[in-house]
Amino acid sequence: MCGIIGVIGTSYAAQEVYQGLLLLQHRGQDSAGILSYDFHRKTYHQHKDLGQVSQVFDLKTLERLEGQMSLGHTRYSTVGGSQIKDVQPLVVGYPFGLGIVHNGNLVNFYQLREKLSQQSKRHIFSNNDLEALLNLMAAGLIESKNEALSFDDITHAVSKIYDAALGGYSVLVSIADHGLLAFRDPNGIRPLVWGEKELSEAEKKQSGSSKAYCFSSESNALNFLGYKLNRDLKPGEVVFISKTGQVFQKVLNQQTTANCMFEYIYFATPESTMETKNVYQVRLQMGQALAEQIEPLIASGEITPDVIVPVPETSRVSAISLSEKLGIPYREVLIKNRYIQRSFILNTPESRKRAVQLKLTPVASEIKGKKILLVDDSIVRGTTSKRIIEMVRDAGAKEVYIATTCPPIRHPCFYGIDFPNPEELVAYKKTEEEIAANQKADRVVYMSLDGLLKSIGKKDLCLACITGKYPVDISAGESFSKKREKDRTEEKL
Ligand code: SF4
Repeated sequence: MCGIIGVIGTSYAAQEVYQGLLLLQHRGQDSAGILSYDFHRKTYHQHKDLGQVSQVFDLKTLERLEGQMSLGHTRYSTVGGSQIKDVQPLVVGYPFGLGIVHNGNLVNFYQLREKLSQQSKRHIFSNNDLEALLNLMAAGLIESKNEALSFDDITHAVSKIYDAALGGYSVLVSIADHGLLAFRDPNGIRPLVWGEKELSEAEKKQSGSSKAYCFSSESNALNFLGYKLNRDLKPGEVVFISKTGQVFQKVLNQQTTANCMFEYIYFATPESTMETKNVYQVRLQMGQALAEQIEPLIASGEITPDVIVPVPETSRVSAISLSEKLGIPYREVLIKNRYIQRSFILNTPESRKRAVQLKLTPVASEIKGKKILLVDDSIVRGTTSKRIIEMVRDAGAKEVYIATTCPPIRHPCFYGIDFPNPEELVAYKKTEEEIAANQKADRVVYMSLDGLLKSIGKKDLCLACITGKYPVDISAGESFSKKREKDRTEEKL
């Protein structure tokens, strides 16, 4: 999972992208990068590195990123590891001069890499599947026989990607001297929104456009930067903004809509709106839906919680509405050290375990002797939740229950979330009782699938990690997982 943002039409494009990246930081913390293009001087500028946005950029670097078009990326590695060669944006000189960022994952990356090498004599240098997309894009644009690049040429190149690339992906491409391109995978698995704003008279003169446009993984960045949200890109839709501000759009290849449900549960920030659903509202609904499942357990005496405790940060909103509906006090007694990275995002079980110990401290005086109902967004590998349950018990809790706003995750994700190996999933081939035993919890309550769908308020979702029904062919998935692990191991050697 990553955060992407692209801006065109303002002389402060890279500065806006930088601010947008700060707001998308929760989507990945491995690396950050910005590419800018100056239409007047016909030059690209770039800066990228490993680390968080505020570590990678300073005022001096930002001032160098001149231009009226810019792309930015904050990375969470799913393919490849955390090496500088994998850091986005990626660029290629021919044709035109292309810069590219993406959020997502190609299930058939390794097959594509092989094919590009064998059939097109194109070498992929990085372990980043984006480089395959960039090469497909470049090859598609080269096929054009037109003198001037047209929108038809662009859609021709994107259709080549749609034909070849299997997975979930949202992509932004800067085309030197031409404009900014955005497209979303044919199932709309990964998110992408766009918006526009009128420029001030002074800015109009400076940039030569009357409007600026912004594409982003989430609407929070648009709101902050003063862009009016137009809408989410449709699955399989291509939008191109030319350097003069002309807007071209076309739905090229729309399959079944399958937006990732995990965005609502975990990844998106609550102030964002995705597919017209406000994430904060969805999480409030999730708390209510969980309450409906928990009420009968309390009525029958199976669980008797004294307090409801959110596992910070994501589950807070749901825990509040759960507490309101059940009439049980809400207490924030797990105190987060805000300077530690989100543990789910760290790549090995050892580093995740250490991170849990560092990042949460229990308020023992409020926990001692009580029956605690923990609320978490999801239990994926179970490493984090198990440690938290242990920590709450060590602080003197009488009983510990855990409720999650996500149904059991029993299947791998091949579309951009880092849980591709089923054996790593705590719910894999286990009943809820077995999971509770594994977690050393007195009871585990999972959100039902119906409750989840009701809370999100839409059905055209990807639910594959819950149901095992994949919207996009994953036959290349097993070899993908093995190869990915091999790449990561080799990088560590
Ligand atoms: S498999 Fe799960 S995490 Fe992956 S895209 Fe689908 S819903 Fe999202």
